[in-house]
Amino acid sequence: MIIVSACLAGVKCRYNGESFTCTHVVDLVRKGLAIPLCPEQLGGLPTPRENAEQTGEKVYTISGIDLTQAFQKGAEEALQIAMLCGSKKAILKSRSPSCGSGMIYNGKFSGKLAKGDGVFTKLLKANHIEVTDEDDVTI
Ligand code: SF4
Repeated sequence: MIIVSACLAGVKCRYNGESFTCTHVVDLVRKGLAIPLCPEQLGGLPTPRENAEQTGEKVYTISGIDLTQAFQKGAEEALQIAMLCGSKKAILKSRSPSCGSGMIYNGKFSGKLAKGDGVFTKLLKANHIEVTDEDDVTI
């Protein structure tokens, strides 16, 4: 079972209340090969919600509210579901402070990127689950 970012599967769970539908990911879910998860919603955050970015090990909204704990809790809940499903692979939304892999927004809300992984991605990788993003789907 592949873990996928719920917003890629068409779920309107992004900070702005929208999805970011990827037809390949939707196909995987329809075929019963993938399970959609949104770590930010699992962390108890509302939708829509304020835009947030990572700064070092912390996550702040654009108005300066520290959401680190909610992001961490959501990542742990989502990891638990991934482990229950025996997942070894994930396809996650690029650049997100939760789901980004390799490059994420740089914490300055400027639209610029920096090297790094989202909070959920970090946890998956630490638990030996391979993460790719929707820009790089070859399955
Ligand atoms: Fe999509 Fe991940 Fe953000 Fe949820 S946390 S909206 S799944 S990118």
